[in-house]
Amino acid sequence: MSQSLFEPFQPLVAIATTPQAVATLQPLCQFTGATLWVPETLASLSNAQVYSGSLKDHLQHLWPQHRGFIFGLATGAVVRLIAPLLQHKSQDPAVLVVDEQGQSVISLCSGHLGHADQLTRLIAAQIGATPIITGTSTRSQLPSLDLLGHPFGWQRGAGDWNQVSGEIARQQAVAVIQDAGSKLWQSHLPVEHPYVFADWPEEAPQIRITHCALPDSDVPTVAWHPRVLWVGIGCERGTSRQLIEQGIEQVFRENGLAIDAIASITTLDLKADEVGLLELCQDRDWPLQCFSSEMLRTVEVPTPSDIVAAEVGTPSVAEAAALYAAQIQSDVLAAGPATLIAPKCIIRNAGEPGAMTVAIALSPLEFTGRQGKLYLVGTGPGSLDQMTPAAQTAIVQADSVIGYSLYIDLVQSRLRPGQVIETYPITQERQRAQRAIALAHWGLTVAMISSGDAGIYGMAGLVLEELEHQGWNGEAPAVQIFPGVSALQASASRVGTPLMHDFCAISLSDRLTPWEVIEKRLQAAAAADFVTALYNPRSQLRVEHLTIAQAIMLEYRDANTPVAVVRSAYREDEATQLTTLGQLHTVTVDMLTTVLIGNGSTHTYQNWMITPRGYLSSSPSASVASS
Ligand code: SAH
Repeated sequence: MSQSLFEPFQPLVAIATTPQAVATLQPLCQFTGATLWVPETLASLSNAQVYSGSLKDHLQHLWPQHRGFIFGLATGAVVRLIAPLLQHKSQDPAVLVVDEQGQSVISLCSGHLGHADQLTRLIAAQIGATPIITGTSTRSQLPSLDLLGHPFGWQRGAGDWNQVSGEIARQQAVAVIQDAGSKLWQSHLPVEHPYVFADWPEEAPQIRITHCALPDSDVPTVAWHPRVLWVGIGCERGTSRQLIEQGIEQVFRENGLAIDAIASITTLDLKADEVGLLELCQDRDWPLQCFSSEMLRTVEVPTPSDIVAAEVGTPSVAEAAALYAAQIQSDVLAAGPATLIAPKCIIRNAGEPGAMTVAIALSPLEFTGRQGKLYLVGTGPGSLDQMTPAAQTAIVQADSVIGYSLYIDLVQSRLRPGQVIETYPITQERQRAQRAIALAHWGLTVAMISSGDAGIYGMAGLVLEELEHQGWNGEAPAVQIFPGVSALQASASRVGTPLMHDFCAISLSDRLTPWEVIEKRLQAAAAADFVTALYNPRSQLRVEHLTIAQAIMLEYRDANTPVAVVRSAYREDEATQLTTLGQLHTVTVDMLTTVLIGNGSTHTYQNWMITPRGYLSSSPSASVASS
């Protein structure tokens, strides 16, 4: 079900010309959703699509229709095949090569703008291969200049992109002049980076992150435009598309603003069917937001008009609509007040019908234009090899990774340049959940990580509850949950098969559950002879809880009942001890420990803890189906 992780790369195609390559690419096609093509000679091997004639000819046909190509061929052969088809990095699809054994995935072409580097990382994480990415930004752990604003929906503006990228690759100082948009991208830069944020040398190349048009400059400069400008429009019925476009362009030019920084066109709901406006928004790919006069008249504006108020029920359309929409955007992350940077301007052409007003508001938070997602990821007990490939892929895919610092450390090697990493102390779970949801509402793909399984005393439950509390519609942001190996499974695997019969888990933490409830559950589990896994068995403040649990269990179970005490399973400081229920109080137990208490038939053999399922006994349970 991890196919949706690969959605942004569709349509994808995979090509194999040998049986071994087919075997390697087939499972990969399943999880990526790529269509597999093979030559006629391999038609009998698979249920792939079969091409006839030369691959070179067939590729010519596939090339314009796909965003990514995964080749199971020798790299040299691929280079020759694609050479005649390549045009420019801004248009070419992602090209990857996977070796026959599936040990390496090579990002061959269109690494940045075509997202081949990212696709390579995702596929490598999924199949446990080595990603081979040769761009300089990978070496320096910097997000590539071409993709810097991608997570935030920034638009690439004018400038000398090759030259500035080259300076960054040579690790020359590059000035960053940012007057608009989120600064989150700055929060996870490597220790050594070429960016200078203040007092830069005069001759240093520049990256301008701005809502303004790029000024003439003697130094190499590139512009990224965060979409922070809301354009309020009012117009007479029947105003032409041309006049509206001319009006917007004129106001932008006069104010030195960049058209690429437009987030949205906003107006009164009466204009929702204004033909010229609709045509323009569709052609230019500008979202159109319409508000009722009740909403707009709540906005304070510099140039209200009584005439307009009498006509449409609000004293301002253009200014009010721009400010209203810009403020809604800012409120997504409580970024502060929106401001009007171009007050109402009236545009009409002499001798032509129609007239319009334009006003522009600036929001401190940009519109990303992206549908946010929340991945709730279980990272397993500790070491990366106990984490599912799907969970690893989700982390690579995310724009932002949020979690308790210890867990972030454990997945460090899966993080990639340009991700927004946020760590929180262990006690601020609710703030962490709210932050993840807010970032996803904004448009980021956010991976919220928990150790073990995210849905077992993890963050997944809290995030869903919080979404419910906020009146979530079930769709935006989209939620996907990635299961992980929970502490009880990880701990059990270190000592044998204690969980082979009916079992339960009880957390001894009374931070969120009253202690009476916990005692009641311990009683019930003990009486019903459940194998019992105790999570959160002890903290510095609660030393007596485990002793009480032990006493309750001893009311029903023999003092010789085997008990496993597993600390930090699958982490560097792992420690495992087998003891008995009667001796449990003599063993050191802390908050990194899981305690597994056997049932009435659990025993040990050669230092392994075994709970019989019943296969070897003559009891009726011997006939239960195995699964
Ligand atoms: N979501 C996690 C549980 C978080 S509650 C999961 O599914 O595993 C935290 C408790 O889990 C700890 O107090 C400890 O009891 C247990 N735990 C987590 N990781 C562990 C590990 N590697 N080894 C042993 N116990 C662990």
